[in-house]
Amino acid sequence: MTPHQSSSQPVHIVGAGLAGSEAAWQVANAGVRAVLHEMRPQRMTEAHRTDGCAELVCSNSFRSDDAANNAVGLLHAEMRRLGSLIMRSADANQVPAGGALAVDRDGFSAAVTKALNEHPLIEISREEVAGLPPADWSNVIVATGPLTSAPLADAIRQLTDESALAFFDAIAPIVHKDSIDMSVAWFQSRYDKVGPGGTGADYINCPMTKEQYDGFVAALLDGEKVDFKDWETNTPYFDGCLPVEVMAERGHETLRHGPMKPVGLTNPHNPTVKPYAIVQLRQDNKLGTLYNIVGFQTKLKHGAQQRVFRTIPGLENAEFARLGGLHRNTFLNSPKLLDGQLRLRAQPRLRFAGQMTGCEGYVESASVGLIAGLCAAADMRGASLATPPATTALGALLGHITGGHIETIEPGSRSFQPMNVNFGLFPPLASPPTKKPDGSRLRGNEKTVAKKQAISARALLDLDHWIAEHLRVAAAA
Ligand SMILES: Cc1cc2nc3c(=O)[nH]c(=O)nc-3n(C[C@H](O)[C@H](O)[C@H](O)COP(=O)(O)OP(=O)(O)OC[C@H]3O[C@@H](n4cnc5c(N)ncnc54)[C@H](O)[C@@H]3O)c2cc1C
Repeated sequence: MTPHQSSSQPVHIVGAGLAGSEAAWQVANAGVRAVLHEMRPQRMTEAHRTDGCAELVCSNSFRSDDAANNAVGLLHAEMRRLGSLIMRSADANQVPAGGALAVDRDGFSAAVTKALNEHPLIEISREEVAGLPPADWSNVIVATGPLTSAPLADAIRQLTDESALAFFDAIAPIVHKDSIDMSVAWFQSRYDKVGPGGTGADYINCPMTKEQYDGFVAALLDGEKVDFKDWETNTPYFDGCLPVEVMAERGHETLRHGPMKPVGLTNPHNPTVKPYAIVQLRQDNKLGTLYNIVGFQTKLKHGAQQRVFRTIPGLENAEFARLGGLHRNTFLNSPKLLDGQLRLRAQPRLRFAGQMTGCEGYVESASVGLIAGLCAAADMRGASLATPPATTALGALLGHITGGHIETIEPGSRSFQPMNVNFGLFPPLASPPTKKPDGSRLRGNEKTVAKKQAISARALLDLDHWIAEHLRVAAAA
């Protein structure tokens, strides 16, 4: 590709996480120079362990890879069509995970880092941007994520005149596989789903009787929690990443209808007795030596975690490679503060990407990085990129962030909360399907499935048109 402006001002990208790495890749592939500023390893966050780009700090899953029936699977497909580095590296480092796309976290991060290091238009600068980016950086993407360092977060808060940017979230523990008792637990994916790189038997399942479940829920409720400091006590959680003990507080059966649901699985050690609840563990590294407990993010103290989680049948002697913990999150009130191109209204040279914009999750963060990168590169060419239509997963997510949300509580507080991509963010179909291909009427759940599939098909078609109309023209300019 011919470098545009390769000798003039670069796009500065702050943060080499999921969003910043993808943004730098898109900027450089559009022929524009990118400088990627990353504070690790000089300054680490509370959750990152390495100096690698796009380090996954908790789960190793990119969630469903089903582009026809699942909104995040659709987002995967759209990102692949746009040459996403994050998706390319994830595909190359898959580990088995049923219907989900999960990755070997070290292999994935190494692949992203290598590609960025080797790109002739990308420079990686290892430094903290400890305040507002310098005034002479005319085109900046801030992608510093949920654990944005304090000096930068403070500067942004002052600039945006917001009272708060942070709240709390929790991570799940990881167990050494050889410490799991496989005479109690068994391998199986829910409904034996095979999925990308999977076998249909990718999860380790631990069964519970009603008595064991009752005891477990009681132990979760009694377990000692990490204290909040005074100023943190009113900090809310993401609904999508609630600590397991907070789910338990919401109702005795909540976990059995959530991460511990006993459906689609049969215990081969005791096939005639249906477990009352099931704890699942998912492979966490390529070697298959580590497994994370699915949905068990927690703020229990470390001692309580070991005691309570070892009451799970099969985990009595579990050795933990990492225990769960609490972390801070940082995100903007984007519908109010950002324009449709993710630029800060108060200072449009600053564009935001990733979780700071109020999207949630690895894939969503990377996808917003992708769009931010394309927009920033277009700006460098003196053009303005029309963002993908709202009928695409990328456009639907962007719409939620920059305008789709309606403020529902009094001014001064905020109702905008981080959100995963979902079909509820897409505009309705003009004429939802009512019949099957054979002409018979769709019934019950079939209608929902057909509707999702129609939304997905429309999205991919519209994305292809958008690419043809806007990106090919931009590339040729
Ligand atoms: C503990 C924890 C658990 C999570 N669990 C999950 C999960 O299981 N699944 C999921 O999908 N999502 C999870 N998330 C959310 C996930 O982290 C984000 O969705 C995703 O990583 C966000 O991508 P990002 O690029 O916005 O931020 P990140 O990937 O965090 O990248 C931000 C980068 O900016 C750097 N940085 C910060 N401040 C500065 C500065 N001032 N100067 C220079 N560099 C800076 C950081 O070191 C980091 O490398 C979790 C988040 C946390 C914190």
